[in-house]
Amino acid sequence: MAFTELVETQRKYFRTGETKPVDFRKKQLLKLKKFIEENREALAEAVWKDLRRRHESTEILEIGMTIGEIDYFLKNIDDWVKPTHVEKTFTTALDKPVIEKDPKGVVLIVSPWNYPVSMILLPMVPALAAGNTVIVKPSELSANVAATFEKLIPKYFDPKYVVVVNGGIPETTDLLKERFDHILYTGCPPVAKIIMAAAAKHLTPVTLELGGKCPVVVEDDADIDISARRIAWGKWLNCGQTCLAPDYILVNGTVKPKLVAAIQKYVREFYGEDVKASKDYARIINQRHFDRITGLLEKTEGAVLLGGESDRTDLYIPPTVLDVEKSDPFMHDEIFGPVLPIITVKSFSESLEYIADGEKPLAAYIFTRNEAKVKRLLNETSSGGVTVNDVLMHITVDTLPFGGVGVSGMGRYRGKFGFDTFTHEKSVLHRGFFGESLQASRYPPLNQQKLDQ
Ligand code: NAD
Repeated sequence: MAFTELVETQRKYFRTGETKPVDFRKKQLLKLKKFIEENREALAEAVWKDLRRRHESTEILEIGMTIGEIDYFLKNIDDWVKPTHVEKTFTTALDKPVIEKDPKGVVLIVSPWNYPVSMILLPMVPALAAGNTVIVKPSELSANVAATFEKLIPKYFDPKYVVVVNGGIPETTDLLKERFDHILYTGCPPVAKIIMAAAAKHLTPVTLELGGKCPVVVEDDADIDISARRIAWGKWLNCGQTCLAPDYILVNGTVKPKLVAAIQKYVREFYGEDVKASKDYARIINQRHFDRITGLLEKTEGAVLLGGESDRTDLYIPPTVLDVEKSDPFMHDEIFGPVLPIITVKSFSESLEYIADGEKPLAAYIFTRNEAKVKRLLNETSSGGVTVNDVLMHITVDTLPFGGVGVSGMGRYRGKFGFDTFTHEKSVLHRGFFGESLQASRYPPLNQQKLDQ
C-alpha cells in the first residue's frame, strides 16, 4: 500500500498554516495530555500485556515522564516560538536580522517496543509543539500498545494532523518511500541505516536515537553499597530492556567481591527470593529476543555469579551476573536483557582504554568520589551522556539534551533541544529603503574608490 495520500493530506493541511500559531500548538499539547490522562489505565494495561511490566512502573517511567514533558513545554513554548533578534554587522546597522522559528512540515516518528508508550509520545511533544503534523509508526513487537494507539488517537486528533500507522517491516518500508520533512527513529543501528538510506533519497533530515553498550566503572573510593543498589535498579528495570541500562561493569579485583555481594543483596531486596513471582520483574518481549539472550548464555565462558536459568514458555530470564573476560560473547553487542557481565581490570586507565576502544555508547557511568577520575572519564571517552555516581538519571533532566554519538545515534531531543530539532531556524534580514549611500560600494562598475571604502 502506498502511503502517498496520507502524507499528502498532512502536507496539504500543514500548508494551510493552521498548525503554526502558538495558541493552536498549546491546545494540541493539552489535548495530548488529555489523551494520556483519560487513557492511562488502558496504556498501562497494554504495556503489561506486551512486557508484563506492572502498571505502577509504567505510570512512573512512561506516563508521568511524558506528562512532565508536556507541562515543561507548555511553560516555555511562548518563549521558544519567539523570533530571536541577533547582533548586527556594520553594513546591516540599520536593518533587523532575526531568526524565525519555522515548523518543518510532516514528521515521521518510528518507535521501538521497550518503552512503547513514551517512545511514541516523547518525540510527539516537541514535533507538535514546533508546529508540525505527525505520522507515528509504533513497533509491531509491542502489539498491544500499537493497537491501543491506533484505536484511541483518532478520538483526539484528525488524521490530517496526527495519525498512527501500524504494521511491520513491509509497511514501514512503504512508508519510508514517502517524502517527510523530518524523521525521528528510535531503535537499533542496523535499522537506523535503512532509515537513513531511505531519508537520503529525499534529503530528509533524521534524528536517530539508538543504543549501545553502556559501561559502568566502579572505583574503590566509591560507596559500594549505594553504587550496587543504583546499578541493580537501572539494570533490571524493564528486565534489562532499557537503552540506557548498564550493559557491563569494569571493576578491580579488590572491589569486585564486595560489589557482587551488594548487587546480590539488592536483587533479593527488590524482587524477593522468588524473582519469577515478583510483580516488579518484567519479561523479555518475545521468543526471538529470549533465544538471542539464552543463546549467548549457552556460549559464555564466564562464571555465573547470580541467576543464569531461564523459562522460555514464560519468557523469563532472572537477574543474571557473570564474571567474564573481554573476549566473552556478551561483550560484542548491546545485551538489551537482564544479563550483567563484570570485567576485572587492573587499573582505572585500563577501564578508560577499554571504553574508548569500543563503539561510542549512549551513556557511560562512573562511581567514584575522585573528581580527577570523573574528569578523565569525561575527557578520554565519548558517549551520548554521562551520569556520575548513578545510572540513567541524566535522562530525567529536561534542560539536558538527550541523544547518542557515533553508533549510538545522531541529533538530540527533550525540552528545548527537541523543539529545536523539529524547527527550522530561518535567517531573515529585514531591510528598508533608506541608507542607500552606505550600499554604494557593492554596485558595479567597481572602481578603486569603491574598493578602498
Ligand atoms: P524494533 O525492532 O521495534 O524496531 C524499531 C522500529 O523500527 C519499529 O517501529 C520497527 O517496525 C522498525 N523496523 C524494524 N525493522 C525495520 C526494517 N527492516 N525496515 C524499516 N523499519 C524497521 O526495536 P529495536 O530496534 O529492537 O529497539 C531496541 C533498540 O532501541 C535498542 O538498541 C535500544 O538501545 C534502542 N533504544 C534507544 C532509545 C533511545 O532513546 N536512544 C530508546 C529505546 C530503545
